[in-house]
Amino acid sequence: MTQYYTRETCRLCDSRDLRLVLPLSNSPLCDDYIETQEDQSSYDLSVYLCEQCSFVQINTIIDPKYVYRNYLYETTSSHGLSEHFQHYANQVCETLNKYGSRLTVDIGSNDGTLLEYFKVNNHNVLGIEPATQIAIAATKRGINTLPEFFDEKKASEIVTRYGRAEIITINNLFANVDHLNDFTKGLDILLDDNGVLVIESSYLIDMIDNMVFDFIYHEHLALF
Ligand SMILES: [Zn+2]
Repeated sequence: MTQYYTRETCRLCDSRDLRLVLPLSNSPLCDDYIETQEDQSSYDLSVYLCEQCSFVQINTIIDPKYVYRNYLYETTSSHGLSEHFQHYANQVCETLNKYGSRLTVDIGSNDGTLLEYFKVNNHNVLGIEPATQIAIAATKRGINTLPEFFDEKKASEIVTRYGRAEIITINNLFANVDHLNDFTKGLDILLDDNGVLVIESSYLIDMIDNMVFDFIYHEHLALF
């Protein structure tokens, strides 16, 4: 049985004033492929709005160790995503006029696709990726990747070992973080005083306008 818990308070402001805005049927975990139908558990996928701070969220949290340690998804398997990350890296370098950096960190770096494009632009790169096998493979391909979850404690360890980051990128991950305040404190520790943080996340209004309700699944705890 997969470990999970249900959150009673808002992930952002701790208020208990949560309103159910989209009731959905229980659903099994996305990407959790099984041999037979019998053993698969389903979990609540309802979407709540915090009446205090307007943060929209899912409050059934599956143990991240279960979801991400043996993660199957790789960036290169999504059509067009590699080209997107090439454009993204070039755009960041151009906007900041930064062709070279002391440390550029990608959190949730997956197979290192984005960091490769920063490396081409002479950045010192470091990936952080809890999917152990994907992280090991990325390191073997020359993108140094820590097979770890990121939090405040991990941020301090990274600073001690590598120094602070001039650029931090987080793509399609910030919405997956349950302990958002701890994670964000970690960003503050890791990011240089003049550093730049780039976050890419799906946007709730676009999801509603385009009816992509299938973006709502257990990994996406926040709908920004
Ligand atoms: Zn709130």
